[in-house]
Amino acid sequence: MSLVMVIEDEEAISMLLSYNLEKEGFEVAVVANGMNAVSEIERLMPSVIILDWMLPEISGVEICKLIRSKPDIKNIPVIMLTAKSQEEDKIKGLGAGADDYVTKPFSVPELMARVKTNMRRAPLFEEKEKIITFEDISMDLVERKVKRGENYLHLSPTEFRLLKMLLKEPGKVFSREVLLKSVWGENIFVESRTVDVHIRRLRKSLNQYGPDYIRTVRANGYAIDKNALAEEDDIDEA
Ligand code: CA
Repeated sequence: MSLVMVIEDEEAISMLLSYNLEKEGFEVAVVANGMNAVSEIERLMPSVIILDWMLPEISGVEICKLIRSKPDIKNIPVIMLTAKSQEEDKIKGLGAGADDYVTKPFSVPELMARVKTNMRRAPLFEEKEKIITFEDISMDLVERKVKRGENYLHLSPTEFRLLKMLLKEPGKVFSREVLLKSVWGENIFVESRTVDVHIRRLRKSLNQYGPDYIRTVRANGYAIDKNALAEEDDIDEA
């Protein structure tokens, strides 16, 4: 079960959030004292953090900066919660490293939707390993960088997630349906040929600096494989 951490000193708000998050099926941890926030995050490793801007002793912005400075927790999505609605404050919050921003008074359904979106977007924090490699391809899961040989590749977030799936189990054939579910998420409607389009882009990036290791398994799916046969996609160019 995914854990959402609520860092908020006002009990009425943290109770409201806990109630609704639990109703959505999340586990909830409330931290009322900002001074404990970072150590609690390190201990519990939540999937998403809802962080109030206005806390006694230390501000939400400062906590956010601390989170982003610590390698183990820096990739956890942070939704900043605040009464401040000025554009300037929003920019300051995002500048401190918040992923998202919700202004009080907030709508509960909207905040729940943001929690789910951020949870889907991010979850590299569970990674045990920092770098995965295959032949001359290396992927840094924490820094979110991909190299082939000495060359850095510029991949979109979708291509990054696709490559990660393939790299984690070299040789295994992933069907388009499995890739769609894991990369795009369960509840998102995308045509399966979208996978082909992104694989094509991924191939183009990777193959600038070496042979093609992505194997197309006709009518089935894709794998990363040293002995990839130069099969053609069985789907016409988009
Ligand atoms: Ca507060």
